[in-house]
Amino acid sequence: MKAAHWQTDLHQIRHLRLFNNVALGSLAKLLDSFRPCELDTGEVLLSPFDRNQYLYIVITGSLKVYLGSLDNQPVTTLRVGDCAGEVSFIDNEHPCAYVVANEPSSALRLHRDALSTLFQQSPQLMQNLLEMLCSRVRQGNRQLIDSEQNANIDKLTGAFNRRWLEHVFERERTRCLFSCQPLSLLMLDVDYFKDYNDLHGHLAGDYALCLVAHTLRRQLRARDSLVRFGGEEFVVLLPEMTLQQAADVAERLRESLERIGAFYSPLGAQPGVTISLGLTQMMPKDSLNSLIARADQALYRAKDEGRNRLCH
Ligand code: GH3
Ligand code: MG
Ligand code: MG
Repeated sequence: MKAAHWQTDLHQIRHLRLFNNVALGSLAKLLDSFRPCELDTGEVLLSPFDRNQYLYIVITGSLKVYLGSLDNQPVTTLRVGDCAGEVSFIDNEHPCAYVVANEPSSALRLHRDALSTLFQQSPQLMQNLLEMLCSRVRQGNRQLIDSEQNANIDKLTGAFNRRWLEHVFERERTRCLFSCQPLSLLMLDVDYFKDYNDLHGHLAGDYALCLVAHTLRRQLRARDSLVRFGGEEFVVLLPEMTLQQAADVAERLRESLERIGAFYSPLGAQPGVTISLGLTQMMPKDSLNSLIARADQALYRAKDEGRNRLCH
């Protein structure tokens, strides 16, 4: 990192978030503690392996932030006015991320030794820094929520995935057993789907799977979980439903797909698909695996008896 010559423009500086509403009269003095520095493209400003003593404010160019490894996709880009290193600057721990110059960039940097003096000189600057820290925490929380949600969702159909099923089954099993309520599980599989792909193409097959997920989801209650179990197989968890009630739901699901003779996708009009379904109700000693195994046997019978039907 090179020291830089930088012409201070106080009016421009006031637009940086850290200096928002800081009295113009005190800005020049505050800025004495900051040193401008230049970064070349690819230069690593912060790394989890190096203790950080500085707060950086981007004044030209942009920086990328990487979590875990520099080989990962960057999680965010820091632009003019954004801060880097504010957390490790304050708690004197190692940074949690890599921060790398995305292009030739420059930053103002402040050593942590100057912090207490600076706060005494400008409570407004302290307030601004706290606000920037809060938005960093909120951004981190949002990313955590997003990644948690994405980790439970099948990308193609938007249905939940098996990871979610394992999680939600434990919860619903405990809840239903505790309140002496039934719990039913449906396993369903698209009929002759290999032929469908062969005839209409894999992409058309993908759209048909989305149609299935969308059609099923629309008819389920919020508390039911629609899970893409794998390939063209789905599982539906139906809490507080007896076998008979779940059979009525399953029959309705089957009919709703049977009725769709054709549908529109980005490829144009394409034929619908039918499904076969296997249904079972939970017994107290059941695990997820034993429940699925029974539903799978029922599904196998539905296939054997001609498809496009429900067995339990
Ligand atoms: P059955 O009625 O006995 O279920 O016959 P099937 O042809 O549906 O069963 P099979 O297990 O022989 O074939 C399943 C097909 O599902 C083969 C596979 O290519 C297709 N498939 C699995 N996942 C996807 C996917 O994500 N997209 C598409 N387009 N096809 C998929
Ligand atoms: Mg299958
Ligand atoms: Mg199939």
